[in-house]
Amino acid sequence: MSELFEKLTPHLKRSYAFQAALNIITWDNNTLAPREAIDNTAKAIEVLAGEAYGTIINDQVKGLLASLGTPGEQERLNTNEKAIVKNLSKTFRKLEKIPADEFQAYRALKARAYTVWEQAKSNNDYGSYAPVLGEIIAYQKRFCGYQQGEGQSLYDVCLDDYEEGFTVEILDDFFGKLRTALGPLVQKIREKQELVSDAFLSQTYPVETQKELCRFLAEYIGFDFNRGVMAQSEHPFTMEIHNRDVRITNHFYENRLDFAIFSVIHEGGHALYEQGIDDAITMTPIGGGTSMGMHESQSRFYENNLGRSRAFWKPIYHKVQEYFPAQLGRVSLEEFYRAVNKAEPSLIRTEADELTYPFHVMIRYEIEKLIFQGEASVEELPALWNKKYQEYLGVTPDSDTNGILQDMHWSGGDFGYFPSYALGSAIGAQIFHHIKGVMPVEEYLKAGNLAPVREYLREHIHKYGGAKNTQELLTDMTGEGFHPEYYIAYLTEKYTELYQL
Ligand SMILES: [Zn+2]
Repeated sequence: MSELFEKLTPHLKRSYAFQAALNIITWDNNTLAPREAIDNTAKAIEVLAGEAYGTIINDQVKGLLASLGTPGEQERLNTNEKAIVKNLSKTFRKLEKIPADEFQAYRALKARAYTVWEQAKSNNDYGSYAPVLGEIIAYQKRFCGYQQGEGQSLYDVCLDDYEEGFTVEILDDFFGKLRTALGPLVQKIREKQELVSDAFLSQTYPVETQKELCRFLAEYIGFDFNRGVMAQSEHPFTMEIHNRDVRITNHFYENRLDFAIFSVIHEGGHALYEQGIDDAITMTPIGGGTSMGMHESQSRFYENNLGRSRAFWKPIYHKVQEYFPAQLGRVSLEEFYRAVNKAEPSLIRTEADELTYPFHVMIRYEIEKLIFQGEASVEELPALWNKKYQEYLGVTPDSDTNGILQDMHWSGGDFGYFPSYALGSAIGAQIFHHIKGVMPVEEYLKAGNLAPVREYLREHIHKYGGAKNTQELLTDMTGEGFHPEYYIAYLTEKYTELYQL
């Protein structure tokens, strides 16, 4: 055991304790806290967040990390300790370059921007949001400038925060391939809309029964209720405190059964990742999923690759019918399968189907790139947005509320985040392809046996937490790094069959 690492440990514990407290408060704010709580609670969060920052960004930790990074000390560390030092050093390097007063001011600006954005969205008033968005972008550019490495573009710096190693070069190639291969598919499907009907999904489905069904589904995919809970919130999300306390939420609409069903499977996928993290690293800086993209790959793997397949529903569709006999009694499994896979270009990203989804992400990626190359001003963004929606999806937003104002991400300075959503789907498809090669996934699904797939993911991805990055996990598991071709092949095959193209 390295003596120096032992000295680092109390700092890690303190840092974790603040993070856990902040996570629990965030969870509470989004689930149980009364509507008027937020303004006052935000003041406590502000203090705790400041303290949390100080637990890591201080001279003692800086000195320890510097010593622990030397070759002699590295030799004394085990694999997990090395990963912790590496992870923390990166955080430190990035944060340290930002002057503390600017960091504080930016945090305050982001809090204000969120409120301005919310108002602007509900009033369809981009003009009131544009100035504050401009300030956010200016801050973000300046911060990226501080952190910029040799030969790195400003936008590459943003991307690195969410998916290490996935640069503009790699993403240009990724999205370019998607556009070429899937664009014509989307076009053809537009002309065959009558082939798939999902009207029966918007009958009245009592919320209490939906909740029972969702609890059944969470258990079915392997969510461990001894290590997790479920609650309700405005938008579904997953929050981990540690590997024995992983929380998911859902939202229920009386007239949209599929929303709750696929949300619980999606969040369940995130939760299985967190519940599967090794005891040795939980509550450390590498005690969570390794990246946004890898996390999203797990949720989408469960939601789409498994959850939107015929085999998944074969053993359990009769149960769904038992929950809703009046609504689904006469709907066949095949009709249900087709309905939950209906593809149709639309305006809202979060409501998009599996096939058109990556185009929503591509549009945001291209706009962010232009912003950071200094080629798009804040005033030009709504027109740019609408033009790209027309170009890629053949639809034009009827308002900025349903256009550029729909996502909260930019108000929080989260530039570079969106690509992870599409990468997650693509990584999920690559993993799906790989697992089908090592075990008879479809047979297992048809038999209602989800354990082998879950165990495999735990063994090759989940248990490592942040000890390996996305490319390392993929390479160690499948023998190759990230390749978008599997995703393209998966979508092409699925939708060609579904829409008889
Ligand atoms: Zn997700």
